[in-house]
Amino acid sequence: MPQSTTRNYYKILGVTQKTNKADIKKKYRVLAKQYHPDTNLGSKAAEDKFKIISEAYEILSDTKKRKAYDRERAYRKKSSRRPKSRPDWNTARDGFGREPGGDKQGFEEPFAQEPEPVDPDMPASGFDLQFIVDVPLPVVALGGTIPYTYEKYVRCEECDGTGTCGDSECPECRGKQLVVRPVTLDVKIPPGVADQYTLAILKEGGAGRNGGPPGTLYLKIHTQPHLKFKRVKNDIIQEVIISSRLAEEGGHLEVKTLNATTTIQVEKATLVGEELRIPGEGAAMSWGKKRGDLIIKFNIEDD
Ligand SMILES: [Zn+2]
Repeated sequence: MPQSTTRNYYKILGVTQKTNKADIKKKYRVLAKQYHPDTNLGSKAAEDKFKIISEAYEILSDTKKRKAYDRERAYRKKSSRRPKSRPDWNTARDGFGREPGGDKQGFEEPFAQEPEPVDPDMPASGFDLQFIVDVPLPVVALGGTIPYTYEKYVRCEECDGTGTCGDSECPECRGKQLVVRPVTLDVKIPPGVADQYTLAILKEGGAGRNGGPPGTLYLKIHTQPHLKFKRVKNDIIQEVIISSRLAEEGGHLEVKTLNATTTIQVEKATLVGEELRIPGEGAAMSWGKKRGDLIIKFNIEDD
């Protein structure tokens, strides 16, 4: 046996990691007979196969060797897995997708790596996915739910996630058990969430294989620029243009708030750049328990 093998001896013998010694022996006997050099008229291919089958049997029939082999495989699998830690947003930037209508180029990246675990019979966790999601400012400020569509690996419907259709490889997923599909998720945006905050949504990443758990979906919130409002921490700032007459004489004015309209009193002799603060009409804070202020900044129309 080579010091370190990447061969899947279980697959070679057509058994799984749970198959007991007696059944492994039975399988080996059938295969050994089939590929024995004596029954194959000296065929080189059969001879090579016979050697590999014997090598597999030598390891899997020996409790000690089998254990060492399993350990090595588990280790190799672990070290080849994608890191489960939080993604590094600065270095992983190219991997980002955007919500529909935006820049979609990032969608390809999370799937560039095919789900090809060392042992196709072992449970494998799904991929973690990370995207930037553009969220309208009022939703970021006050919370809400937005539909988000992205692509991920899901269980293949054609073969019911087995990878095979009858005796042959499933043509839909080509044996991978998983296929890439667009999915739409209702994403809850917490009220007053900070711009650039990353939501970790468990189990909404790629599907796992052989009963492995799905990955995590990481969504980094990007506040969409708003025509009227700007957010500074928990305050919302709005520039309002008034006529020079209203600025001089003062009077009532209807202005938009994040979720309604309100009437304000413009003071007499209002100057350009003067501010009016409306308490409690800003962005949510303390996860929705309080709100910041709405600040109206006056600008005056030229006559
Ligand atoms: Zn399939």
